Amino acid sequence: MENCIFCKISKGIAPASIVYEDEICIAFMDIQPVTPGHVLVVPRIHAEGLSDLPEKIGGHLFKVGQKIAAGLKNSDIRCEGINFFLADGAVAFQTVFHVHLHVIPRFSGDGFLLSFGPDYRNLPEREALDKLAMTLRSSL
Ligand code: AMP
Ligand code: ZN
Repeated sequence: MENCIFCKISKGIAPASIVYEDEICIAFMDIQPVTPGHVLVVPRIHAEGLSDLPEKIGGHLFKVGQKIAAGLKNSDIRCEGINFFLADGAVAFQTVFHVHLHVIPRFSGDGFLLSFGPDYRNLPEREALDKLAMTLRSSL
């Protein structure tokens, strides 16, 4: 995609601080990191979201994410834990529409919060969970 910033980075025509690359993906530092060491793992092919991404490439992104996570833990970057995060769709906070996996180092007091809706603490009945599981099983 001509105007896609992650396609441009993948082709080497836009700047990036590269951490890792191979024929399938490229991993580079996020320009607006949640914490220092925040990395994005990006497929070289342009896929807007998860449904356009071949499964095999998705699996590779996770594998590279694990590699980056291990690297973070081995480094002197502050990292007491790690979040993987992938936003699929604007409602899920996707802002760059070329799918990517965030690898975010976490430490106590880093200020990154997840907030939940008002019903979060109301545990659903098993029946409701079973019904959802059945719905989902039949659409896999
Ligand atoms: P998302 O909201 O999941 O789509 O995340 C997009 C991420 O891409 C954000 O964390 C941005 O800071 C990051 N980002 C946008 N443009 C660039 C760029 N040119 N280089 C590195 N990271 C970028
Ligand atoms: Zn792209």
